[in-house]
Amino acid sequence: MDLSLINSLRASPVTPGAHIIDGGRRAASDAEVMQVLSPLDGQPLTTMPRGTREDADAAALSARTAFDDGRWRDMPPAGRKKVLLRWADLIEANAAELAVLGVRNNGTEIAMALKAEPMSAAGTIRYYAEAIDKLTGEITATGPANLGLVHREPVGVVGAIVPWNFPLMIGAWKLGPALAAGCSVVLKPAETASLTLIRLAELALEAGLPAGVLNVVTGEGAVVGDAIAHSMLVDVLVFTGSGATGRRLMQAAAASNLKRVYLELGGKSPNIVFADAPDLDEAAKTSVNGIFRNAGQVCIAGSRLLVQREIHDDFVARLADHLASLKTGDPLDPSTGAGAVNSLRQLEQNLSFVDEARAAGRTIVTGGTRILEETGGYYMAPTIVTGVQPQDRLAQAEVFGPVLAVLPFDTEEDAVRIANGTDYGLAAAVWTTDLSRAHRMVRRLQAGIVHVNTYGGSDMTVPLGGVKQSGNGHDKSLHAFDKYLDLKTAWFKL
Ligand code: ADP
Repeated sequence: MDLSLINSLRASPVTPGAHIIDGGRRAASDAEVMQVLSPLDGQPLTTMPRGTREDADAAALSARTAFDDGRWRDMPPAGRKKVLLRWADLIEANAAELAVLGVRNNGTEIAMALKAEPMSAAGTIRYYAEAIDKLTGEITATGPANLGLVHREPVGVVGAIVPWNFPLMIGAWKLGPALAAGCSVVLKPAETASLTLIRLAELALEAGLPAGVLNVVTGEGAVVGDAIAHSMLVDVLVFTGSGATGRRLMQAAAASNLKRVYLELGGKSPNIVFADAPDLDEAAKTSVNGIFRNAGQVCIAGSRLLVQREIHDDFVARLADHLASLKTGDPLDPSTGAGAVNSLRQLEQNLSFVDEARAAGRTIVTGGTRILEETGGYYMAPTIVTGVQPQDRLAQAEVFGPVLAVLPFDTEEDAVRIANGTDYGLAAAVWTTDLSRAHRMVRRLQAGIVHVNTYGGSDMTVPLGGVKQSGNGHDKSLHAFDKYLDLKTAWFKL
């Protein structure tokens, strides 16, 4: 992206956020706005509505009405596809504005944001748009006197609650299949990353999505998110965020209408490097990117590095070398590799993990401190901690920041035991040239995705989801439709 364009966009005033309910912007009264601070400098960027329960209820009612009167779900598949494809085109046409706005709001480095946010969202929406007229039901193998049909029907109103690390990418992972299936949606963006999702919904209206099919309500999770989770008008909740909130959503579903709940939660993903890795230097470089890009604020971040003992010291030295060339700082500088931490609260939480590790006698090889404080922004030096023990909080709990815990292991058996020894099961990686070992590890590791001789790669064709306390259900791929399409049996006597 052209530097002069970035610089002109970074200086432009930001329109205050608004809810998108029933096809239009609903601004908040003065008493109901919240400040949006930029993590780049800690300064106010704009305001947005501090939504109320009534706002969430109005959005749910709008989505319910739109679903029940069939204005979207009953539109011919080719018509829905056209709207979604037009939407994807508009997102792409506005990619630069969306990317810079997103970076000013959440702190992701621009090079990654452009690819992972608007461009990824446009690709996701296209993928699901293209699938609309390929979804079919089944005729079952009955005897000659009967006919069994299995229809796939949209589930109804979807409540989507999304986080701040990749709002457009993760938002599109929910919106793409939900809207393609014919559902209506109430979307709740995170407090610290709402602005691009508001814009995304405006572009959907511009593309011809009927009013009420996609509503966005901004504000606090404990108010707006909680109201959506308890709503009797919402049929399915899809969520990406913390385990603590995931638990609350399940409780809210149980306490209200037993809505289905699909959770994509955190991880403490093990990145396992055997001494026979094909290229230790490549492994070190990829491992650095696998934890430190977006300042570690990636759900599948490889935050636990398990290194076979005989190469441990050599590998840590290679990591430090590669890390030295990863620039941390201003996310709007295209050469930055690790941007800002999203909020002061998150920065303090990251530092508390390091303080605890230091107090326990673990070695802080590099980093461990707040940096660039003079900018007013929230930056943390990428941090490598060695000597971490499997039971340490740093090896068990998700930091969601630029902190890498390094643990040695001796045997394959050891690696599996340590890797599987947390409550999480999101991602993992194995570096080895032994093909049999690679396959054994894929089978034995408790994770929704296992990378082999790489970290973090994937595309729309493969599902993303976790096992154990990393969640249930899958985003991406055609499997994502399972959350938004119900099965209905029709049984005929002939
Ligand atoms: P994080 O700690 O990473 O911010 P959260 O789980 O708190 O993760 O946030 C993810 C999303 O969940 C955000 O949109 C947030 O507003 C929302 N959220 C937070 N608390 C609740 C809650 N009690 N009920 C519903 N949604 C919530």
